[in-house]
Amino acid sequence: MGAYTAAAVAAIAFDRPANVVDGNVERVMSRLFAVETPLPAARPELRRLAALFVDDHRPGDWAQALMDLGSGVCRPRSPLCDQCPLAFGCEALKTGTPERYPLKTKKAERPHRRGHAYVLTDATGRVALVRRPDKGLLGGMAGLPTSDWSAAPDFAPPTGGDWRAAGSVEHVFTHFSLTLEVHVAEGRGDFLWTTAAEAAKALPTVFRKALERGLGAA
Ligand code: SF4
Repeated sequence: MGAYTAAAVAAIAFDRPANVVDGNVERVMSRLFAVETPLPAARPELRRLAALFVDDHRPGDWAQALMDLGSGVCRPRSPLCDQCPLAFGCEALKTGTPERYPLKTKKAERPHRRGHAYVLTDATGRVALVRRPDKGLLGGMAGLPTSDWSAAPDFAPPTGGDWRAAGSVEHVFTHFSLTLEVHVAEGRGDFLWTTAAEAAKALPTVFRKALERGLGAA
């Protein structure tokens, strides 16, 4: 049994003083005291603040009332402060934006990278692929020739030729998002040459998108 359930049973079923803290009570405490620490780091502080109100007098009713206040009055988006019996002492209400509390830790933004992808075809329409290095992202898989993926990648095609811009594609990996500028040309060279259909089957999604973009513009 978790700490919340144990406290709820003690207070509500057995009317024993217990600090019952669910999400509703956390919200009420964060607003009453205008707690500036964001969740989840604020949780111990909110629990400590809620403990200040635990009392021998009708503890079960108190626990239930506090949770009901949180769910019905001190609502997440639009708290009904004009109906709240605690409004007189609510620090968040004084700020004018009580719904700002509880603060939440912002997720780190995914970094963005850029790259160049080269769609090289030969006279018969086959596509040049490479095998990616074993280590690293998409390691060991088939890929299009590309630049590095960084803030400002160099445009350095794998062969000389009449390279033309074919637009860009977007892709989101777990740890970063990527814009690939696609370039097309006809040429020859030491690559894994394969038909467009086979290439589409063999390539991971990010390269398949770039291939489709390149062939569409070729
Ligand atoms: S006054 Fe408003 S923000 Fe403060 S506890 Fe009551 S309902 Fe919540």
